Amino acid sequence: MQLTFDADVEAFRAEYTQFLDDHLPAEAEAAGEASRSTSHVPEWARRWQQVQFDHGWLLPGNPPEFGGRNAGILEQFVHREELSRRRIYHAFNPQGVGIIAASLLSFGTEEQKRNWAVPILRAEMTASLGMSEPGAGSDLAGLRTTATVDDEGFVVNGQKVWTSGAHDADVILAFVRTDPKAPRHKGISALLIPTESAGVTCRPFASVHDRDGLDFNEVFFSDVRVPAENLVGPLHEGWRVANGSLGHERTLMWMSFATRLEQLLEDFRPVGAVNRDRYASSVMDYQALRLLGSAALGQAARGERDVPAVSVLKVLGSEAEQNAMRHALDAAGADGLLDPALTARYNPYAPAIFTAGRFARYISTYAGTIAGGTSEIQRNIIAQRVLGLPAR
Ligand SMILES: Cc1cc2nc3c(=O)[nH]c(=O)nc-3n(C[C@H](O)[C@H](O)[C@H](O)COP(=O)(O)OP(=O)(O)OC[C@H]3O[C@@H](n4cnc5c(N)ncnc54)[C@H](O)[C@@H]3O)c2cc1C
Repeated sequence: MQLTFDADVEAFRAEYTQFLDDHLPAEAEAAGEASRSTSHVPEWARRWQQVQFDHGWLLPGNPPEFGGRNAGILEQFVHREELSRRRIYHAFNPQGVGIIAASLLSFGTEEQKRNWAVPILRAEMTASLGMSEPGAGSDLAGLRTTATVDDEGFVVNGQKVWTSGAHDADVILAFVRTDPKAPRHKGISALLIPTESAGVTCRPFASVHDRDGLDFNEVFFSDVRVPAENLVGPLHEGWRVANGSLGHERTLMWMSFATRLEQLLEDFRPVGAVNRDRYASSVMDYQALRLLGSAALGQAARGERDVPAVSVLKVLGSEAEQNAMRHALDAAGADGLLDPALTARYNPYAPAIFTAGRFARYISTYAGTIAGGTSEIQRNIIAQRVLGLPAR
């Protein structure tokens, strides 16, 4: 089956690729897809994000004043497909751009859009997402960081964890409990907390997939004063903001898995000759992902919202990528364990096979099966909302 887009969508793609041909800096092409959430980024990366913003290609679904061109979902899809296929470095603060600025555009005041969303989108400021806490990850409604409300605003106390890039960020969009007596989902609010506020401590820590430095943080809030105007959305309605925040990324997420899987299958075609069964199962995963994803995209284009479909695609895409990477790792044997960064540092003359970095790439695939809702949580959603099984 050949899945194609209408001529106007392809014209949109052609316009975008022309923009890339005219403006893409060589550094962005060389850097590849990977982006980090820190502000320690080269000047070219900031400039490149601004060029995309100014030409309406940063997030094409946004209005022009926020770096877009009011593009529809199909156009947003081909934009992301081109970025991913060509492995182009897009934005250095993906959570700030894809989640936090998007939340501010949906729930923020005009002032918040001007003072926070635009600088984040134009790479003048970076933002981190403060959702998870020890004991409140999958179960976000279990969060215990509190904010007491007084005449001037809020006083925040508590701890977040896994806060990507917080130590370099200017601001954290933090979800805090403002009404401890309300039912768990009802008493939460979203606050913009500048990291320079007195009482904020960010403690970065290493993770196995983060080879270049530290990106995860524990963040502690100790009597942190936050002005009333930093409340995002209505008081006690942070649950709605949290769901909206993640929803922005979810509809098109499967496509990034699909393009990475496509590239993996291409890169590891020789492995396929060694183990045909495993290679064939990854090819089938890829086909299933494209077909189901295209059906979901069609639904989204018709304005239909299908939450379980997104969960199916998240599980299928993230696990298919992980399985394909594991097959490649197994086929490489012990050599697959070597890390390209370390190998380059200790033995720059190592033959190419030692710098394949399959282990590092395999470990990175766990970000896909955990972040944004683990595979188990997606399966719970599928069990209850697609199969109609009881919650317990
Ligand atoms: C690369 C990466 C970046 C991240 N960046 C951020 C960030 O910037 N900001 C932020 O706030 N968070 C961030 N996170 C954290 C992420 O949101 C959480 O890791 C995720 O929500 C899971 O929570 P947890 O780690 O507390 O695991 P837990 O919720 O404790 O889960 C542990 C295990 O139990 C399983 N489990 C839990 N509940 C159930 C259930 N009801 N049924 C069946 N199984 C269950 C889970 O699937 C998992 O396998 C990031 C995570 C990763 C991997």
